[in-house]
Amino acid sequence: MRTLSSFINGSWQTGTGRTSTLYSAVTGEPIAETSTAGLDLDGALNYARTTGGPNLRALSFTERGALLSAMSKSLRNHRDELIGLAADNMGATRGDAKFDIDGASGTLAYYAYLAKSLGDRNWLLDGEQVQVSRSKRFVGQHILTPRRGVAIHINAFNFPAWNMAEKAACALLAGVPVFEKPGTATSLVAWRIGQLWVEQAGLPDGAFSLLCGSVGQLLDHAQSQDCIVFTGSGDTAAKIKTHPNVISQNVPVNVEADSLNGAVLGPDIEPGSDTFHMFLTEVARELTQKAGQKCTAIRRILIPEALLEATLEGLGERLDQHVVGDPTDRKTTVGALSTPAQKRDVAAGIAALEASGARRVWGDPSAVPAAGYFVAPQVFLTNDGADAAFVHDHEVFGPVATVLPYDGTVAEAAKIIARGGGGLVTSVFSNDRNWAGPLLLELAPWHGRLMWGSAKVHDQGTGHGAVMPSLLHGGPGRAGGGAELGGERGLHFYLQRTAIQGDSALLKRVFGTAE
Ligand code: NAP
Repeated sequence: MRTLSSFINGSWQTGTGRTSTLYSAVTGEPIAETSTAGLDLDGALNYARTTGGPNLRALSFTERGALLSAMSKSLRNHRDELIGLAADNMGATRGDAKFDIDGASGTLAYYAYLAKSLGDRNWLLDGEQVQVSRSKRFVGQHILTPRRGVAIHINAFNFPAWNMAEKAACALLAGVPVFEKPGTATSLVAWRIGQLWVEQAGLPDGAFSLLCGSVGQLLDHAQSQDCIVFTGSGDTAAKIKTHPNVISQNVPVNVEADSLNGAVLGPDIEPGSDTFHMFLTEVARELTQKAGQKCTAIRRILIPEALLEATLEGLGERLDQHVVGDPTDRKTTVGALSTPAQKRDVAAGIAALEASGARRVWGDPSAVPAAGYFVAPQVFLTNDGADAAFVHDHEVFGPVATVLPYDGTVAEAAKIIARGGGGLVTSVFSNDRNWAGPLLLELAPWHGRLMWGSAKVHDQGTGHGAVMPSLLHGGPGRAGGGAELGGERGLHFYLQRTAIQGDSALLKRVFGTAE
C-alpha cells in the first residue's frame, strides 16, 4: 500500500495521525493512504507567498508559458502510467482516463501557446486610456497585476488531472503560486502528477504546492491577497464561502459546483437525420463517459412529444452497445464509479428519482459486476415537465439521466431548462434558426456555455461535455456562479485590476498602449 505525501515548503512531507484510505474502484481493496495531520499549513502558505510569488513575478509571460509547456509534456510522457492509476483508483476506462489526462495536458499546452501572445511583460493592460476630465492630458488606464498571495485550488474527485491542470495553468501564467488540494479519494493520480511536475517541469521554488488529504485548518490561514478556486459540491462551496476567516479577510472565492445540464431536441429534427444522430451521440456519450461522473454530463433530456417514441428507440439502440465492467478490459465502455460514497449516493438518488414518479425506460440495474463500485447506466422518464421537482433540484452524479417530453415550443423548453436554477452547459439541436435563435437567447442568462448542434456541424463539434480552454467554463446559480478558462479571461481572477489616473503621455511611457 502506498503512502501519499504532500509537497509543501519545497519538500515532500507526510502527515502524522489520522489517515484517509484510498480504494481500488474495481475491487474495493485499499490501495493507498494519506494524511495532512500535523503539517504546518500556515507556514506552507507563507512559503508559497514569499518564495513562489516573487519567483514567478520575476518571469515574463513567455517564460511562465515555457513552464506550462514542460508541465504539459511531463503528462504526455507519462500518459500510460497515469491511465493505469486512474483505472485502479477511479474505475476509469482508458477512454475516460484519457479524457481527464489529455484534457489536462491540452489545457496546459493551450495556455503555453497563449503566453506567447502576451509577450515579455509580466502584467497586462486592460483596455485603452479613458479621458476622465475636460483635459485630454488627464486620463485613466486600467492595468492588471498579479495578486501577492497564493491561489488555493480545492478540486473535486472526478477530474484529478484536468481540474488541477486547468487551474494551475491560469494562475501560474498570471504569476501567482498555486496550492493544489485534490479530492482525497482519487488523489493517487494528482499525487503522481505532482511528482512529475516537481521533478520535470523546472518550476521555481514555492510556485507549486500539493496537499494530499484533508484540507484541515488551511482556510484559517488564508489572507486577503490569496484567492480560492473551488470545484465540488454546492454544500462544500457554501462552507468555504461562509468560513469566518474567508469572510473577514475578504478572500475572493470562485465556485464551480454541480449542474443539471440539458439537451433539447428541436421539433424540426427528423428521426434518422444527421442532427438526430448527433443528438443521440451526445446524449449516449454523456450518460456513459466517466460513468456519468462529469459536471457537464447531460442530466435532463428534452424531447418533443411527437418525436418521443422514435427518439427513445434510437437512444436505446445506441446504449445497448455499451458494456459495463473492468475498466482495463478494452471491450468495456463504462467503468466503475470512483468511490464507495459515490455508489451509495447514486443508489439513493435513483431510489428518490423513482419515488418522485419517474419511471425507468432504459437500463438494467442488476447488469453490473458484484465487486467494486459499478452502477449500470439508466434512463428515466417523467411527464411532469417543469414540475418534476426532484429532477430539477438534485444531481444524481452517475450514469443517470431523465427524459422530459415537452410540447416543442421555445417557451416550454426554456421554462423547463431554467427550472434547473442555472447550469454549466445546455445543448440545443435544431436546423431551424428561427426556433433555435430565440431559445438560445432565453437560455443564455442561465448558462456559461451553450452548444448549438445542427446539420452543418453534425460531424465537427467538440462535443457537449468537453470543456475548451479558449471558452468560458462555469455558470450562474446552482453551477456556483464562477468563471474559469476562456482564454486570457481565465487569468483575470488571479490579477488585481487597478485604474491609474494621470498624464496621458507619462502613462503611455510607463505602461505602453493597448494593441
Ligand atoms: P466535494 O465533496 O464538495 O469535495 C470537493 C473538494 O472539497 C474536495 O477536495 C474535498 O476534500 C474538499 N472539501 C471537503 N470539505 C471541505 C471543507 N469544509 N472546506 C474546504 N474544502 C473541503 O465534491 P466532490 O464529491 O469531490 O465532487 C463532486 C461534485 O463536484 C459534483 O457535484 C460535481 O458536479 C461537481 N463538479 C463540478 C465541476 C465544475 O467544473 N463545475 C467539475 C467537477 C465536479 P476531501 O476530498 O478531502 O473531502
